[in-house]
Formats: sequence, C-alpha cells, structure tokens
Amino acid sequence: MLNDYRLFFQSIEHYALLLLNSHGIIQFTNKAASAICGYSEAELLHRPFKQLYTEEDQRLKRDELELFTAQEANAFEAEYWRQKKDGSRYWTHTDISAVYNEQNQLEGYTVLIKDISEKKKNELELREKEERYRLMIEGVTEYGIFMLDTEGNIVTWNEGAKRITGYPSYEIIGKNFSVFYIAEDRQSHKPERELEIAIATGKYEEEGWRVRKDGKLFWSGVTITTLYNEDNQFVGFSKVTRDLTERKEEEEKLRQSEERFRELVQQVKDYGIFMLDEKGRIISWNEGAKRINGYEAEEIIGKYFSIFYTEEDKINGKPANELKIAQATGKYEEEGWRVRKNGMLFWTNVVITALFNRHGKLIGYSKVTRDLTERKESERALKESSDRYRLLADELKITNTELARTNKELEQFTSIVSHDLQEPLRTIKSFLVLIDKKLPQNSSPELRSYIQKATYAGNRMKELILNLLQYAQLSKDDISVEAVSVTTLLGEALQNIKDRMDATGATITIENDIAYVYGHKVQLVQLLQNLLANALKFSQPGRPPRIHIKITRRESDILFSITDNGIGIASENKNKIFEIFRRLHVENTYPGNGIGLSICKKIVDRHNGRIWPESKLGEGSTFHFTIKADKAIKENILISPENE
Ligand code: ADP
Repeated sequence: MLNDYRLFFQSIEHYALLLLNSHGIIQFTNKAASAICGYSEAELLHRPFKQLYTEEDQRLKRDELELFTAQEANAFEAEYWRQKKDGSRYWTHTDISAVYNEQNQLEGYTVLIKDISEKKKNELELREKEERYRLMIEGVTEYGIFMLDTEGNIVTWNEGAKRITGYPSYEIIGKNFSVFYIAEDRQSHKPERELEIAIATGKYEEEGWRVRKDGKLFWSGVTITTLYNEDNQFVGFSKVTRDLTERKEEEEKLRQSEERFRELVQQVKDYGIFMLDEKGRIISWNEGAKRINGYEAEEIIGKYFSIFYTEEDKINGKPANELKIAQATGKYEEEGWRVRKNGMLFWTNVVITALFNRHGKLIGYSKVTRDLTERKESERALKESSDRYRLLADELKITNTELARTNKELEQFTSIVSHDLQEPLRTIKSFLVLIDKKLPQNSSPELRSYIQKATYAGNRMKELILNLLQYAQLSKDDISVEAVSVTTLLGEALQNIKDRMDATGATITIENDIAYVYGHKVQLVQLLQNLLANALKFSQPGRPPRIHIKITRRESDILFSITDNGIGIASENKNKIFEIFRRLHVENTYPGNGIGLSICKKIVDRHNGRIWPESKLGEGSTFHFTIKADKAIKENILISPENE
C-alpha cells in the first residue's frame, strides 16, 4: 500500500513533496524535491526540514513557527524565499499540512513546495515598470494626468494637473472632477454625461472652458478614458488634460484677423474677390463679385469659374489653361471679355493667384476681377471722337484750302475792281475840274457847290478804293522784314499827316529810346499814320489835339503808345472798332469809312503783335500796339496765310 503511495508521490512533478515526522525530520521526498531544492534524496532524507530555509529564516526559526502554525490550524500556506544547496534563492509557494493518527496524535507533516521564481520575477518587473510609469506620470508637467474612480472622484494627481489647475494633490484628491467645470456645465450635468459617454464608447474627448482653483478660466483639451482591471472589471477613468489657452488665444486672434480680412474682402465693392478650390470651383464670393458678375453667393458657390467665360473661350479650354499658368508661374493676369449672369459681356482685368500651403501643396486660387467696361467704353468713345475729330480736321483742311482759294479770288477781284474803279473815277474827277474851270463867272453859287460836292464824293470814293486795295494787299503778299529805324517810321508817318496836323494846330510830343524794330517798313508807317490820323480826327470840339507818342521796350516786344486828348471810346466799343467798316460816328461829325483800324489790326497781326485801346469816354484815348524787337520773330512774320 505504502509502495503504491510512493509511486504516486514520485510521479508528482513541479511540486516538491516532503513527508516530515512530528519533529520536522524528512522521512520521504519525491524526485521533483531534489530538482527544486537542489539537494539529492540522500541529502534530504532524515535531515531536518530546516535546511531548506534561508539562513535568516533559520535564525528566526521560521520552520518551527510554520510547523507549529500548521499543527494549530491544520494547514499553513505562504510565499517566500528559500535557499538552495548552492546558496541561490528561489521564490516558493509553500503549503504545510499537519497529519494526525486515529487517536488524534500528531504523526507528522506533508510539505508541498513550488518554485514560483519565474512568476515572482515577472511580478517584480511589472511592479518596477508600474513604478517607473507612476513616476513618469507624476513628473509630467505639460499634461494633467490623473485617475478618477468609477464615480469621478480624483484618485491620483500629477505635476501637470497641479500646474494647470492650481490645486496641490492634498487639496484635490478625493474631490469630484466636476470642480473643474464652470457652474453652467455643472448645472446641466455635463461632467456626468462625459463619464457616461466614456463608459459607453471607451473614450470622451473635447476642448472646452474649465475653471482653475483661482476661478480663472482656461481652455482645456480633455481626454477621458475608461479603465478596466485584469478581470475586465470597470475600475474608473484616466483623465488627460492639456491647457490650450494660449493656442486658443492664438487661434482666436487668427480667427478674428481672418474674420476681419474676410469681412473686408466681403465688403469690397470695386473688385470681385473670390476663391477657387484646386479644381477651379468657386468657394467664396464678395460684394464686388456680386456687383460685377450679377450672381448671389448662394447661387454661385460650388460652380466652376468657367461659368464667367464666353462659349468660345470655354471651347478653347481657356479657363483651365489660365489655372495651369497660374499654378506654374504663381500668377495669371489679363484683360478680356467675360459674361455676366444676364448674359451681357463685360471687359475685365483678371488676376488669378495660385495658393499653396506650407508644404507647397496647391490648395486653390484667388481671383481678383475688375470691371473695366466703363474704361473700355470711354476708350472706345475717345477713339470714336478722335476719329470724328480727325475727319473734321480733314474736312477743315479742305475748307481751309477752299477758303484760301476763295480769299485769293476775292483779293484778285478786289484788286482788279479797285484798279478798274479808279480809272473811271479819275475821268469823273478830271471832268469835274474841267466843268469847274469852264463855268462862267456869273454861274449860280448853287451850281458851284454841286460841283464841289461831286468832287468831294469822288475824293472819298478814291480814298475808299485805295483803302480797300491796301486791306486786300495786306493779306496777299508775304511781307519782307527788316530792321527799321524807329525815327524813320515816325518821321514818314508824321510827314504824311503834316497837312492835317497843321490844319488842326495839334501838338505832338515823342518819348523814344528804341533805335530799331523788325518789320515791314511801309506797313508800319501806314499803321502809325492811321493811328495818328485818328488821334487828330477824333478831337474834342474847340480843343486843339495834343498827341504823345511813347515807344518803350517790354520784354521781347517794343510797345508803341499813342495818346490823344480826344473824345475817348466807351468801353463797350473797344473791341468793335477793329471790325472793318465799323464806325461809331456819323459821317457828318467825323468823316471816315471804318477801314483804318481794321488795317492797323491786320498789320499788327502780320507782325505777330497785339493792338488795344485804353480809353475813357470824354477823356482821350491811348492806342497801344506791340512789335517784336527780335529778329527771331522774323520767321513767324513771314508765314503766309496759305501755309498756316
Ligand atoms: P474811321 O476813322 O474811318 O472811322 P477807323 O477804323 O479808323 O475808321 O476807326 C473806327 C472807329 O473807331 C472810329 O469811327 C471812331 O469811332 C473810333 N476811333 C478810332 N480812333 C479813335 C480815337 N483816337 N479816339 C476816339 N475814337 C476813335
């Protein structure tokens, strides 16, 4: 029977089996015992069980204590270090049972020892790892990492959590994590809901406002994860919190500036500014774009920008090509026709800019358009009107040449007529002289006065014809210019009117410091003569004429001023007097034909000068005219009307 047991005991593997007598001496061992304890069967049998303990345990008489405990409680069980024969230690699970005989007397003990060093090692490693992990988490300052129990009460706390929330661990452990939530969130049971979601889905994540110990808010990134133990029992939550206030503020700033920018772009009316995605679909729209293209944002967003192109452009693939160029070179710019919503064309300036992200990837395009239809229109109108002007100018040129031709014909006519008229006039005058001579002494004075009147009229007619001839010739001939002595001019002019001067008893004074002027001598004499004659003629009744001639230099001009003490000219007539045949007086008071001043004007014009009166009615007049002092002016003076 015992043999049977022996066989059975021997077959037990992995467990050292020892039978001890009541004194703790080994009576039996199995094979596994030698393998586990390091002693041979011979070294174990009949030896005290004590030798299987470590030296300290032996000193502490741990074997006796355990056997005693087993005896008292029938069994003893524990895990601890034992020592092998070679001194090395191994971790054991030891199970000791006391054995009693039928008389209830202690017979001995059965001891089962299992080497569980391997398990112990793993356990130690795990603990070490956990310890490291705990230390690591505690040391993390960037993140608040802590554990909640199943109710959400805080169980652990780390540096980061302290830094972020401001609570030291002794103040917060045991409190519910809802202390970090704003009152409103607590009232709406947000913290509880978050835990519920975490339980249901394994995780809850969000960003939101939380409250620090000092009551200040911080923007927090939160992850709550449910925790299960090895037996898959729900044990609580881990919570990782990050303070994202700065990022949030940055984002907010960015958002605000983007918002402002977007608003700004949105409100720009003069330019259509919008964005296209990388495929050319419209993704934003502004006021200007709406004004120019006619589409509301909601009807255009999502459409391809090719909608703005003419059919022809679309067929030619122009829109896609523009994007390609923009992508390759960064920008595409042109002016061209586009189509409004109502189908009308508009002329626009377009700039397409390719937009790349930080990594150089194309993310879309911005498109800025400007309606230049008005400009185009005014350019067209300008061109049209300039065309019209050109045509008009051409016509005018024709008219001018025609005019010149007519003028020439008129001058020829005047010249011929004047000459032809002079001849019969001379005959009339000769016969009048003859009649006057042949008239008998006793002829009636009435008859004589008729002859006188006829002679007078003939003289007037002669003068008129001469003046007309002069006037016509003034526009006809090129004038040859030379340096003319001022003294000569004055001398000749005064000589020509000497008779009239004598007749009126006029006094003439001259103030001159100019030696020469450049001009046509005959014409300048005529000019001075006409003005002096008028100064003599339009004198006040009973008041002998006083004439002052002043010649001075005024910049590049020589200024002639002829002042009289005559009747003067009303200011409203000052311009009229230069018109041909214009007279302010009836023939009886002041004889004349109204050609004199128009001749003067023509002469001055041909010398590129100016003529104007300065006068007050009843207080005398001054006639000023300018003649260029310089030879250089010669060129201008030589220009004949045909060449103008
Ligand atoms: P006419 O002397 O033959 O009348 P003018 O052409 O010389 O023609 O002058 C035009 C008009 O200008 C004159 O009729 C006269 O009314 C006015 N006039 C010209 N010179 C003077 C002057 N020195 N004083 C006042 N009136 C003048």
